[in-house]
Amino acid sequence: MARLLEYQGKRWLEKAGLPVPQGREASTPEEARQIAEELGKPVAVKAQVQAGGRGKSGAVKLVDTPEEAEEAARSILSMEIKGLPVRVVLVEEKLDIVREYYATCIVNGSREARSPMLMFSVEGGMDIESVPEEKILRHNFSEREGLPTYDAVDVAERAGIPPEKLSTFASFLHTLAEAYIQYDCFTLEINPMVETSDGKLYAADCKMEVDNSAVFRHPEFGIEVARDFGSEPTELDLIGWNIEKTDLRGSGFVMNMGYDEKSEGYVGYHPIGGGSAMMGMDALNTVGLIPANYADTSGNPVASKVYRVAKVVLSQPNLDGYLLGGFMMANQEQWHHAHAVVKALREELPKKPGLPCVLLLAGNKEKESLEILREGLADVEGNSRVEIYGREHVTDTDFIGKRLLELAKEYRAEKNAAAGQAGAGQ
Ligand code: GDP
Ligand code: MN
Repeated sequence: MARLLEYQGKRWLEKAGLPVPQGREASTPEEARQIAEELGKPVAVKAQVQAGGRGKSGAVKLVDTPEEAEEAARSILSMEIKGLPVRVVLVEEKLDIVREYYATCIVNGSREARSPMLMFSVEGGMDIESVPEEKILRHNFSEREGLPTYDAVDVAERAGIPPEKLSTFASFLHTLAEAYIQYDCFTLEINPMVETSDGKLYAADCKMEVDNSAVFRHPEFGIEVARDFGSEPTELDLIGWNIEKTDLRGSGFVMNMGYDEKSEGYVGYHPIGGGSAMMGMDALNTVGLIPANYADTSGNPVASKVYRVAKVVLSQPNLDGYLLGGFMMANQEQWHHAHAVVKALREELPKKPGLPCVLLLAGNKEKESLEILREGLADVEGNSRVEIYGREHVTDTDFIGKRLLELAKEYRAEKNAAAGQAGAGQ
């Protein structure tokens, strides 16, 4: 799901009518200091990354003066949390917390419910994972009607909120459910929701995940890629996403895998479907080849979409091969894949003569598909290492891996020799 950072989520909570601490984001220590000065009170400085557990890793600092805020921001901005560099901090008023609660809306996908669900506990905060199940109240609500206040009162009461505070809590929970629906969230987690010494409630943290399929309805969120990413999307990710975004027929997924474009042994990876992708990984892993990217063209995509994915996969520099890994009997008509791959390889092979291409395609319209591949690639320049396989090898990861490795070794040796000659000639 597409996730917003805490400070972004809080902005939308505020617009929906939920109380959040005053403050805003900063990307330099000086900016952090300035925000603390404007607020004119003690502040919390918090790392903005797509990872939880910041409190425990020292990435949330509570300070009293603007100087300390600057210092705290400097230290947090030099951190890496779970491998993610911190580029932004949130500087907001420090709350005088008397109690921390947990309030979250998620999708209850169980057969009986299939609805949004509120989870609420009077034991929120950093150790929510260790709060016993029975202390977390759960309540399903309708995505059309929302969470009526009387139900919110009931949940709060069952959780142990005293009578005089019920209306404050119910109003918070009701508004949270409203925000959840209005923003088409998948998850809207407030942990902690806090009560301050003056009896007010605030969303002190916010994890907001928007349903990928509803991102298009919310241009205001500025979500560039409606997909789950641990960090910022790379150029290849964005190109891949663009294929998906502009054509909804079947899936055409391309994603970066941290390929360095220099080392040997990387293969342009083009599996068809999730199961096939896992088998393809086996094929590569057992022979020590590495996928340069992840891809998937399944769900009966049209040829033009498969073609675009194949072109992106093949565009990566310094590949030692290309694997079309149809390691499953697909019921999608495979001739669309055949046409697409023929067109892509007819364009790319002359530029990369001798590139190892192991093409495995099986299932519906298999005979025709293999014929299209064979005929289409028979006369193209640079096709010396194209091998085409069908159902006899559909689960044969060992065989496919070995074929690709053997071809890749030859190709690599040729490339290295050519590079050596070029070097010697200088
Ligand atoms: P997480 O650990 O990544 O979920 O980060 P949180 O935003 O939940 O912060 C962790 C903890 O820091 C919270 O449980 C609070 O105890 C504390 N905290 C966060 N903001 C404030 C604040 O404004 N005032 C005070 N006193 N504590 C805060
Ligand atoms: Mn939290």
